[in-house]
Amino acid sequence: MQTPNIQKLASTAEEWFPIHQRPLPWRIHYDPWHVWVSEVMLQQTRMDVVLPYHERLIRRFPSVTSLAAADENDVLALWSGLGYYKRATMLHRGARHVVEAFGGHIPSDLSDLLTIPGVGRYTAGAIASIAFDCPAPIVDGNVTRLFSRLFGVEHPLGSTALSRVMWEKAEAVSLAARSPRALSQGLMELGAEVCTPRNPACPECPMRSFCAAFTSGRTASLPVPKPRKPTRQLKIPLFIVTDLEGRILMRREGGALMRSMYHLPHGDAALLPGGTFDAVPGACLGSFRHTVTDRRIEFTVYEARSRGIRDRGSEWEWIAPSRLAEVPHPSYVGKALRLRGL
Ligand code: SF4
Repeated sequence: MQTPNIQKLASTAEEWFPIHQRPLPWRIHYDPWHVWVSEVMLQQTRMDVVLPYHERLIRRFPSVTSLAAADENDVLALWSGLGYYKRATMLHRGARHVVEAFGGHIPSDLSDLLTIPGVGRYTAGAIASIAFDCPAPIVDGNVTRLFSRLFGVEHPLGSTALSRVMWEKAEAVSLAARSPRALSQGLMELGAEVCTPRNPACPECPMRSFCAAFTSGRTASLPVPKPRKPTRQLKIPLFIVTDLEGRILMRREGGALMRSMYHLPHGDAALLPGGTFDAVPGACLGSFRHTVTDRRIEFTVYEARSRGIRDRGSEWEWIAPSRLAEVPHPSYVGKALRLRGL
C-alpha cells in the first residue's frame, strides 16, 4: 500500500487549488477581517447558508474596528438565524481585543492570534495561512476526512487519538508549503468538493495515486464514524402572548446554547434557558420539528395568556411586530412567529 509523501501531497493541493477554487468574496483581496469572519461563520454552518450572512455583516461592519465599536445586540441581530450564537458574541469580544491589544490590526503571528478570545488553533491557523500566507497547520472536518483517507487512519472521529494524529500530519504538511494560502484552502476545498463524506469523487482526485483508502478499497469505511449518542426526543410548548397593542412577550436569555437571544415563553425546563412560564394555553397554532445538537424537538405553538404577568422580571419585554427583525432571536422562534403570521 502506498503512503503519501508529504512534499508531494502539499504540492498537489497547492497546484490543484488555483484551478478548481470556488469564487468566494473573501478570496478577492484576502482581507484578514473578511477571512476571520468567514472562518467563524463556516464553523458548523454550510457555505451556501453563510454567504448572504457574510455579505451583510461585512457591509455593516467593514473593519474589525467597526465591529468592535458596535453594540453586541446589533451583531447578534445580523447573526439571527445562523445559529451557534456564541460565535457572534466571541467574534465581538475578539474584535475588541484586537483593537485594545493590537491597535485594530489583526496579527499574522500564530501565538498572537491565539491570544484573541474565540480564536482557537483552527481559526488561528486559517487566518495565518489564508489571510497572511504564513505556514500554519489547520485541521477542520474536511481536512480530517481527507487525511483519514489519505493516510489510512483508523481512529474514530471525535477521538483524542485522531485529533493528535491529524494535527501532527497537518503540521508536517504545512512545513512543506510553498504557498501556505493555496495549501490550506486546497486541502479544505478538496475535502469539501472531491473527498466528500459519501461517494468521494476518486476518479477526479489528484491524490488518488498515493491515497491509502483508495488503493486499499477503504474509501467507504474511512474515516471511522464516531460512536453514536442516542438522540433525545423532546416536546416543548411555546406560547405567543400578546398585549392589547399586539406586542409580543419575549424574554432575553443568557443560556449556554443560545446566548443573549430573545426567546418566546415556553413550557420546558431541560433545554431552553430561563424558567418555565406559567401560561394559560389558548388556540393551538401548529407545530414543527427542530434539531439542536443531539436533540430532536417538536415545538407546539399556542396563543396564550399569562398567569404571572405582573410578576415578570426585568428581562421580559413587549416587542412590537415591526421590531422583530432587529431583535436577535434563534431560528426556532422565527418558525413559531411565522405560524402566527408574524
Ligand atoms: Fe478522497 Fe478518493 Fe481522493 Fe482518496 S482518492 S483523497 S478517498 S477523493
